[in-house]
Amino acid sequence: MQKREKLLKEEVKKLLDKKQVDMVIGYEKGTLALRTTPCFLASVDDVDRLVWNEFCENNLAKYLPGRKEKVAIVAKGCDVRSIVGLIQERQITREQIFIVGIPCEGIIDRRKIESRLGEKEILEATCENGKILLRGEDFQEILKKGDFLYDSCKVCKYRNPIVFDLLIGDRVPELEKIDEYAEVRKFEAESPDERWLHFQKEISKCIRCYACRSACPLCYCEQCFVDQSQPRWIGITDNPSDVGVFHLFRVFHVAGRCVDCGACSRACPMNIDHRWLLKKMEKDVKELFGYEAGLSVEEVPPLATFKEEDPQDFIK
Ligand code: SF4
Ligand code: SF4
Ligand code: SF4
Repeated sequence: MQKREKLLKEEVKKLLDKKQVDMVIGYEKGTLALRTTPCFLASVDDVDRLVWNEFCENNLAKYLPGRKEKVAIVAKGCDVRSIVGLIQERQITREQIFIVGIPCEGIIDRRKIESRLGEKEILEATCENGKILLRGEDFQEILKKGDFLYDSCKVCKYRNPIVFDLLIGDRVPELEKIDEYAEVRKFEAESPDERWLHFQKEISKCIRCYACRSACPLCYCEQCFVDQSQPRWIGITDNPSDVGVFHLFRVFHVAGRCVDCGACSRACPMNIDHRWLLKKMEKDVKELFGYEAGLSVEEVPPLATFKEEDPQDFIK
C-alpha cells in the first residue's frame, strides 16, 4: 500500500505540475482512526496530503457531476464503474476526466471493527500485509484484514479499474469462485408475505436523513422526487408507507445503474442494509437484459433505451 501511495503522489504531482488537469480529487488522512476523507487538490504543494490505503472508502465519483474543469480522480474498480455510468448519462464527458485508477484489494469495514472492539477507543489504525494493527491508549490488537472487509468487497468482480488514463501500480488478481447472489437467492425463496415483512423490518429503522442518497454518485438529480411538492410524490413523514415508497423508488431509480460500491450502506447512520435489495435488482437486470452496469462507456443502459420489439402487453 505504501508503495502505491508513493507512486500515486509522484504521478499526481506530474499531472498538476504539467497542468494536465485543473484539480485532483483524492483521499487524505481523516481526523479519526479508520477514516480517510475526500480532498480536492489544485496545487503541487498540496500533493503530500494524498493517501491511499484500505480505509479509502468513499466513492469519489460523487463529486463529478456538474464540474466544468478538467479533473483527475483517484478511483477504485467500483468507483470507475460509477464514472462510466456518469459518462453514459452525459453528466460528465470522458475528455474532461483523467482517471487515476487504483487496483484494489478491498476496503475495511470500520463498523465491523468497532463492533468487535466494543467500547475501546481506537486512536490509530494501519493495515499492512493482510493485517490490521489497532492501537488505543492501553491496548494493541492485530486483526486479519480478510475478516473485516466490506460485504461488497468480498464478492467484487472488478477490483481492477476497467477504464483508466493511468494505473497506479500492478494489477491485483480478480476474485475467483465468488457467489455474489447467495443472499438474493435466500430472499427470492421467501414467500411474498415473508419478503414484504423482510423489507418492512429493514426499513423500519430509517429516519429519512437521505445520507444514502447523498453518498451515491448516481443520485445527482437537481431536485429529488422526495423533495418535490408539485406534484408531491410521497409524504414527508416517517410513517412506514412514506418510508417504503422512498426505498422502493430509490431502488428502481438505480436499477441497471448501481455498481454495488456500497457507499449508500456505509453512509447510513441506522446501519440499514441496502445491499440485499440492490443486489436483487442487479440480478434481475442481468437476467432480463444481460446487462451489468458501468462496464462500457459505449453501451446504453437497458432502462435508458427501448427496442421496437420490446413486449408491450403491460400497456393496456
Ligand atoms: S467493491 Fe471492489 S473495487 Fe470497490 S472497494 Fe470493494 S474491492 Fe475495491
Ligand atoms: S445505490 Fe449504493 S451501491 Fe449502488 S451505486 Fe449508489 S451508492 Fe453505490
Ligand atoms: S441513510 Fe439510512 S436512515 Fe438515512 S434515509 Fe438512507 S436508509 Fe434511511
